[in-house]
Amino acid sequence: MGEPVAFRCVSCKREYGPWEHDYYCPRCGPVKGTLEVLYDYGALARKLSPLSFAQTRRFSLWRYEEVLPVGFEYAVDLRAGWTPLYARPELAAELGLSALWIKDDSLNPTGSYKDRATAVVIAAARYLSRSALTCASTGNTASSVAGFCAAAGIPAYIFVPEATPRPKVAQLLAFGATVFAVEGDYSHAQRLCEEARERFGWYDRSDGVSPMNAEGKKTGAYEIWEQLGGKVPDYVLVSVGDGSVISGICKGFLELAELGLSESAPKVYGVQAEGAAAVAHAFARMKRGEGILPAEEPAETLADSICVGNPKDVVKAVTYVDRTGGGFVTVSDEEIIGAVGELARKAGVFAEPAAAAPYAGLLRLLRDEVIGEGAKVAIVITGSGLKNPEGALRAAGEPLRVPPEIGAVERILSADAL
Ligand SMILES: [Zn+2]
Repeated sequence: MGEPVAFRCVSCKREYGPWEHDYYCPRCGPVKGTLEVLYDYGALARKLSPLSFAQTRRFSLWRYEEVLPVGFEYAVDLRAGWTPLYARPELAAELGLSALWIKDDSLNPTGSYKDRATAVVIAAARYLSRSALTCASTGNTASSVAGFCAAAGIPAYIFVPEATPRPKVAQLLAFGATVFAVEGDYSHAQRLCEEARERFGWYDRSDGVSPMNAEGKKTGAYEIWEQLGGKVPDYVLVSVGDGSVISGICKGFLELAELGLSESAPKVYGVQAEGAAAVAHAFARMKRGEGILPAEEPAETLADSICVGNPKDVVKAVTYVDRTGGGFVTVSDEEIIGAVGELARKAGVFAEPAAAAPYAGLLRLLRDEVIGEGAKVAIVITGSGLKNPEGALRAAGEPLRVPPEIGAVERILSADAL
């Protein structure tokens, strides 16, 4: 494993001993004081080569054990990571790009990018001898925690707002999680989860809370680099809710550059819905020399997985994105729905609305000439279209109704051909 040398506060830069604090800098508190895991990059650079990871022969994110804070011996045997990176040269040509790659993380065990974080968080929980995992979430994080805890045979305690739809709760219950439907809204569920983790010693996997999240999530960047034969794209686009996934992806690319494994980091762009753009607004404030925090604002979008008004990992997200030379872009719900359909039709990848947002962001950045002709771009698909069938239905249109006669099929096909 990578042997962290310190956990550092992203705001005051104070360094703590590895594992000294679980979640945040006590001086700065939650959100402002999220921690980042630091390694001895000089020592790692001397030890690692571009082939080091393949030599593990592990087809999961544990091939990157050398740059992870916990060892493979603590891993749960449920494969997260090493998802495919698809090339789409025809679509790239249509868009005027010289390359377009699609990193399909809908193929993780519970269908989302969140499994990368959970894989490392649960390994850390075992390393720290914590008895259970907890989180406040209604969506992909909760499914992921429930699934990994089932595989590990440890309890999962999940806090959801009482109004959470039955189908979402059903998956959690099926995995055997204890689900608390908290009277009130999401913030009540979050607060109760925090109190419970302190009271009962559970390890908190909520997004933007544990520094382990970014460690798991950074492996997507290592994979893109490795799958491109040790090269990185010019741009990488990913959707943003809490800011956790993009923080991890940026950290991965920045580490690769620091380790001398890639020449530079790609410009990473975060894509948010116009109605839920707290992180994009915080980035704009930072660029104007104003404060990143507070970053709370109302949130409304049909892309449920990125509908976040109180982003927990905003400080890390905006500072890391800035370090890559990237930025943020917002897109309308209409553009997001269009992207669900276009990605499915033109690329063969069925993404939930939040996960299709990067494609909508790409179209916008091309139109605005932020991304120029001939660029090489990767977009990260963070969740399966099967997660949100409502979104898919809005993008899909209607089937062709026919009587059970071959003549009717023939007539439609020949009308189509005209
Ligand atoms: Zn601090």
